[in-house]
Amino acid sequence: MFYPTVYLPAIIEAIEQSINAHADEITLLDQTLGDGDHVSNLQRGIAALKAHSSEYPPLDWSGAWQKIGMTLMTQVGGASGSLLGTLFIALAKAGRGQELDLAQFARIFEQAVIAVKQRGKSDVGEKTMLDVLVPISDYLKEAAAQSKDFTQLWPELVAVAEQGVESTRTMRATKGRASYLGERSLGHIDAGAKTTQLIINAIVRILST
Ligand code: ADP
Ligand code: MG
Ligand code: MG
Repeated sequence: MFYPTVYLPAIIEAIEQSINAHADEITLLDQTLGDGDHVSNLQRGIAALKAHSSEYPPLDWSGAWQKIGMTLMTQVGGASGSLLGTLFIALAKAGRGQELDLAQFARIFEQAVIAVKQRGKSDVGEKTMLDVLVPISDYLKEAAAQSKDFTQLWPELVAVAEQGVESTRTMRATKGRASYLGERSLGHIDAGAKTTQLIINAIVRILST
């Protein structure tokens, strides 16, 4: 965005710390609604990203996102791996050769979220990571339209992600493993929505300091 890829190693570290700190809680969520492997799937992906950390800073955003997306796609496994991989590969594709100001990033991010929807045959309201990604995308577009400045953006992004996670609590899952539970999926937040929030918070933490 306005920040060079030199921040990516620190962002990946921050994501790792945050996922590790919430590992038990998220594993319990994926055990309740799915098969319990979401944290270990992500941790495998993060370890692979860290192994290549030094390769991102020399790249432009598009090149770095492509590398990250391919790594997630091939290393994470499970539904979340292909969906997060899709998100970054679509960011790379839409971002190629672009100057990334907020308005441009909001457009690129929207396209990447659409790619995730297509890949998952899913949309907002189905108790998945999209219940965080879509509100974040909507917020970025609105913030760009209002020319908000970054001091406002960071806390609002954190709040939007938090609301997105909470919104999944009262949803009945209609995609992924949780959909097998039907009504019994009510009352719990979605593991993938939670980790998406933690990833966003970690990015904000690094970029806002
Ligand atoms: P798996 O369900 O294959 O074990 P993970 O446990 O790693 O994969 O990831 C599960 C998360 O993936 C869910 O909590 C949900 O947020 C997300 N997810 C699953 N299916 C879909 C889908 N069709 N569209 C969007 N997100 C999905
Ligand atoms: Mg799982
Ligand atoms: Mg699984």
